[in-house]
Amino acid sequence: MFHVSNICRNYSFTSNIAVQVRNKAKTHWAKLKKKTSPKYKALNHFDDFYASVFGSKWEPMRQALLRGSKYVAVVNNYGDAEETIEYLTHRGAHCLKNLMKVQQEFHKEYSPKSADPPPINNTNKLQEYVNRVQSEDISSLYPEGADTPDRLSFKDKKPDGNERILHINKSDGEGKQGMNYPTSESQLDESRIIDPSMGMSSEVLYQYIPATKLKGMDEWIPESLHYSYYSTDKDFPLVIEPETEFQIPEHLKVYTYEMDSEYHKFPEPKRCKTGVFNYYPMDCGSVLAVLALCLSPGDRVLDLCAAPGGKSLVALQTLLPDIVVCNDTSISRHNRMERIFNDYLFDFKTSNKWRERVLTTRVDGRIYKDDQGFDKVLVDVPCTTDRLSVNEDENNVFRPDRVRERLKLPEMQSQLLTNALRLVRPGGAVVYSTCSLSPVQNDGVVHAALKRAFEEYGVLAAVKDLTIPMSALSSTLLLASGDIAPRYGQLVLPSVSANFGPSYLARLVRIK
Ligand code: SAM
Repeated sequence: MFHVSNICRNYSFTSNIAVQVRNKAKTHWAKLKKKTSPKYKALNHFDDFYASVFGSKWEPMRQALLRGSKYVAVVNNYGDAEETIEYLTHRGAHCLKNLMKVQQEFHKEYSPKSADPPPINNTNKLQEYVNRVQSEDISSLYPEGADTPDRLSFKDKKPDGNERILHINKSDGEGKQGMNYPTSESQLDESRIIDPSMGMSSEVLYQYIPATKLKGMDEWIPESLHYSYYSTDKDFPLVIEPETEFQIPEHLKVYTYEMDSEYHKFPEPKRCKTGVFNYYPMDCGSVLAVLALCLSPGDRVLDLCAAPGGKSLVALQTLLPDIVVCNDTSISRHNRMERIFNDYLFDFKTSNKWRERVLTTRVDGRIYKDDQGFDKVLVDVPCTTDRLSVNEDENNVFRPDRVRERLKLPEMQSQLLTNALRLVRPGGAVVYSTCSLSPVQNDGVVHAALKRAFEEYGVLAAVKDLTIPMSALSSTLLLASGDIAPRYGQLVLPSVSANFGPSYLARLVRIK
């Protein structure tokens, strides 16, 4: 006989299975969604690229990147500065200037040697990585086991609308640059050109590439394009000299919690009696980019990619520049910048004083023109924003519809920096900064821009080695050193004990 209790038991059993199956499907779906999310792609990409370049030092950076970041507080001199300092000190924060002074004294006493320019370090590892990506790009177009050509050429559109031809060479195993622009003498095998960006029909590719690989080829852009701007050619005068002008501006008051402190962030800023906010919370690496400008009284400053205005605001908080031109192409970010200036600069909207000192412009920084020559130019370029990319899906540069933009970042960055080198007067300084760990977007772009500025415009600039002045920050944050130190700039590494960055900054002083 069949008992009701059995039916019940059976029913509950099957319904459990149904729920389990449904949940399992849900879990699979969630897993799949996670695996295709831009932040997952970003982390995967960094795991491959940065582990190849930084070796075992990548894992602790990775851990830090996935945790909450640390901020410093920049005291607003246009608010109740004294009260704000008292408030921050009371919360256990220290003045960055004092911390740096103490550390400087310590270094003078215990390590008085001046540092030689760091040697070229992770170049080989990077070259190996680039060779691998290039070979993978070529192989990805051919079925397994098929003979792959040693070189592919493809057409690409330059920002000015003209076309150019890029080559990807299969790695020769001897560390030779795998992808390059053809020289005028080089023989171009026109028959092997892939023309994805020019809207060329895929049909033409059939004779070279198996049909199964042709889907989506019209939009094809090789991953290795991103690395093609990286070169270590020394066929232009490369000047690297120690920085001697560096000083912390008297009126810039930055507060930070000690390394390893349980505090990372400050509470939300509050309105002062004058209506402006009492401090601006920001990454310490962003403050360093402004410090590296070595601002002087009366400076005419250009912030070429300024929005939403954090670094321009820090420059204004030094009370040194006469004029700060804040340029950015994005309208929405311009609006944010206006709001921030309004929130921090007393009487910003109504006072003529501000209208004369803070000018906002919306010009493409690659073609920005000026007749006078700026004393200082900050180039805080769009980049892969590594921390944001592994933590947020929104606006992520690793989104599939932003591939082309991402792969062309180094090109855009070097064009912005080249123009900045033309915009600064001889004797003036340019600071190039990113919030990426990528040696391609960092030293690679500095190298490419120095070379291009010299070859195309006769502009010569010296790289100022900031190793000694920045060593005063060793009790506050972690800077890349030894075999992973960049050659031209300073790199703030995310670390669990001082979770700032990543931030890269290089200081260049125009010689002629
Ligand atoms: N310096 C800003 C700050 O500290 O608040 C952050 C700048 S953000 C890293 C890079 C900026 O570059 C973005 O606001 C973006 O709109 C701007 N940008 C992108 N392409 C540009 C171009 N061709 N010329 C000028 N600005 C550009």
